Amino acid sequence: MIIAIDGPAASGKSTAAKQIAQHLNMLYIDTGAMYRGVALNAFEQNVAFDNLLAMGILLENIKLDFKTADGVEQIYLNGKNVTTKIRSQEITKLSSEIATIKIVRAKMVELQRTLSKNHHDVILEGRDIGTVVFPNADVKFFLVASIEERAKRRLVELVKKGVTTDFEQVKSDLLWRDKNDSMRVESPLLKAEDAVEIDTTHLTLDAQVKKMMKIIQKKTFSSR
Ligand code: C5P
Repeated sequence: MIIAIDGPAASGKSTAAKQIAQHLNMLYIDTGAMYRGVALNAFEQNVAFDNLLAMGILLENIKLDFKTADGVEQIYLNGKNVTTKIRSQEITKLSSEIATIKIVRAKMVELQRTLSKNHHDVILEGRDIGTVVFPNADVKFFLVASIEERAKRRLVELVKKGVTTDFEQVKSDLLWRDKNDSMRVESPLLKAEDAVEIDTTHLTLDAQVKKMMKIIQKKTFSSR
């Protein structure tokens, strides 16, 4: 079974996906972390985003691995744990920029399909899972939430991490990313026609997960 979850930043994809993966014993793939990993790699190696030759070499050699330590997802870039590093505000912006590059997307899609192949049941979250990576996914969700609510959620996360920022800055960063991710030519953020849209603005995490689980059970039961 493949479950695809797409939606803009801070719409409630990650936390719900992790919980559902645990409930149903599925492999969880955070595809945003993969784009973040490529952005960090390019940044650290001083590869200009318009240097497609250098970008191609970087992509040929990149190694991205997911591991779980004490129930927490960890991402490794070329053997180094970069779980915290990829979440910085700088890499967040660069990941959205690098995600517009065709060869980057092609490589990530290939990696995502390869990772999924070795597992029976997989839940993936990102921007193009239901539209491009797995257009035949068994269940597709498209999560949305108001910009105010998303900015609030992201601000809480950042403050917890000790980042100094404010609501207006977080909101404008999110709006910039929404625009960049939705307007790009390559695999823009889009709701798949057959995706179930859920507005999480007024839902607790618990209620959101319950709602999603119900839909998954209904869809998988009716396809048997
Ligand atoms: O989900 P997350 O915020 O970690 O994703 C970081 C960036 O990676 C997004 O802003 C988006 O530009 C890109 N991305 C993408 N396609 C995906 C997942 C993430 O373009 N499937």
